[in-house]
Amino acid sequence: MIIGEHLGVNEQGHLTIGGMDTVELVKNYGTPLYVMDETVIRNNCRLFKDAIGKYYGGNGLPLYASKTFCCKEICRVMKQEKMGLDVSSGGELMTAIEAGFPAGDIFFHGNNKTRDELLLAMEYGVGRIVVDNLSELERLEDICIAQNKTANIMLRIKPGVEAHTHEFIQTGQIDSKFGFALENGEADFAAKTVAKTGNINLCGVHCHIGSQIFDAEPFKLAAKIMFGFIERINKSYGFTISELNLGGGFGIKYTQQDNPPAYGDYIRQVSEILHTLCDEIALPMPKIYIEPGRSIAGPAGITLYTVGAVKEIKDVRNYILVDGGMNDNIRYALYKAPYTVLVANKANEPCTYPASIAGRCCESGDLIQENATLQNCKPGDIVVVLATGAYNYSMSMNYNRFPRPPVVFVNNGSARIVVKRESYMDLMKNDV
Ligand SMILES: *Cc1c(COP(=O)(O)O)cnc(C)c1O
Repeated sequence: MIIGEHLGVNEQGHLTIGGMDTVELVKNYGTPLYVMDETVIRNNCRLFKDAIGKYYGGNGLPLYASKTFCCKEICRVMKQEKMGLDVSSGGELMTAIEAGFPAGDIFFHGNNKTRDELLLAMEYGVGRIVVDNLSELERLEDICIAQNKTANIMLRIKPGVEAHTHEFIQTGQIDSKFGFALENGEADFAAKTVAKTGNINLCGVHCHIGSQIFDAEPFKLAAKIMFGFIERINKSYGFTISELNLGGGFGIKYTQQDNPPAYGDYIRQVSEILHTLCDEIALPMPKIYIEPGRSIAGPAGITLYTVGAVKEIKDVRNYILVDGGMNDNIRYALYKAPYTVLVANKANEPCTYPASIAGRCCESGDLIQENATLQNCKPGDIVVVLATGAYNYSMSMNYNRFPRPPVVFVNNGSARIVVKRESYMDLMKNDV
């Protein structure tokens, strides 16, 4: 039942992460608590970097999608690992800048960047602004003209491929708030518009087809479509676009049912298609960017809770009430995301106890998981949810004025706080 090589069970029957006893971590830092294994994060970065090296001769860069899990320390880790960074708000941008991340390796995303955000992006000199729509393009052009600067941009394209986990569809994605559609000529029109501007330099095109994808086919299809688009606009509008950003979306293992292929495998398969296409028309391979988020941070993290009560409702169900909830993990409430749940201090016992894990918010839907089977559980036990490194802390919130948990990084037998626990005073710091 234990997922991930960084997790284990020690002699006391306690779950360990990165060689550290989770019960000890709880003693030191309290609950609810996010713990992330820094070694796993770094190793995941290296898998993507190595794959770009192997299949594209190093002509590319993985950009960590920071919306997955963003704080200054992970930006420092990404800088050390020589990753690029994808940010999608002024807040993520400023976190990276404050952490000393090189602005030139930052790509700025978002489907409605404000004028203030674009001003920040130009002030700090981000590497690429990924333009989502024509109004945004206009805002950016105004800034560039006023400041006599040139923005290096990519266009966000909807390739008409949308993928999630085991399924992908080839049409229909035109109904999305992100980017320019190919089917109706929006994308071509955007390229034509950019060609007429003086202060905008079109470096490449971008797509992101979905998340938690287990299949290489939709990535291959999207790459082929995007390559065709590059070829067409280079010819039609005289561009020499040489960058292709294929986004993120690589799936991870949340439960035993999940079997994602190795990340290098997706990249190999996509590279084969692109090499063939380039050979056919005798074009050099574009510089390839990918934007893994979940696949870097997700597997590294766990969340630890203290059980406050167990309600056994006869003939209905058992509720395990933990001291966190949708505040720190909204993904089950949002889209019934599956997770593996265990009792961390009884990790060597069999999983025979059926229960739903509920939080403390004033919402019946405040559930972390329904109909789980875990070790027999009593008040005072520690419940752990696995693979919470992505889209948990970054989506956390203060409903009911619960302070957000801290984040602890473990690395080769040592632990350190990278985000402090919020205090009640923190909750009030902007109240007048
Ligand atoms: C969310 C997002 C990613 C990361 O997606 P994952 O599924 O976490 O890998 C990458 N690029 C863009 C533009 C995104 O919006």
